[in-house]
Amino acid sequence: MATSQSGLTTGRQLGINAVHLSEAHLVQVYRHLEAAYPEEGCGLLVGHIDADTCHVHAVVPTENAWAHPEERRQRFLIAPEAFVRVEREAAAKGWQVVGSFHSHPDCPPVPSETDRMFAWTGWVVMIVSLRAGRADSARAWVWDEGAHLFAAINLVRTA
Ligand SMILES: [Zn+2]
Repeated sequence: MATSQSGLTTGRQLGINAVHLSEAHLVQVYRHLEAAYPEEGCGLLVGHIDADTCHVHAVVPTENAWAHPEERRQRFLIAPEAFVRVEREAAAKGWQVVGSFHSHPDCPPVPSETDRMFAWTGWVVMIVSLRAGRADSARAWVWDEGAHLFAAINLVRTA
């Protein structure tokens, strides 16, 4: 997946400090993740980046393609084919894949050690906490390469 990101300029995106997402898109994310519970669910965020703000125009639920079903409560994978397809569809509209979302079943919406291992610079990571199968809270993060940690950014719900 990393090579698919080669067209993105990381310098510009290091400064992302907010992601704007409509209430309808957030509900779409929640419903997909609730359906995947108790496994982790996932998907891609499509939109554009304007200065320091990431604007989401579409959310694309994907399958959790992690190879070992018994580990899907703590692991997720977005298949490279799905990524390429969504990236192509986004490009046709002048958009790009700006990040991903996934759930933490019965865990806080805070990046895990695994999330850190798969971190990409300039990529918005939205994590949704589920409690007893219901979406509970969402937070957005970007990887700070310099500080080597995930920095929380504002998740702004637009109308
Ligand atoms: Zn995670």
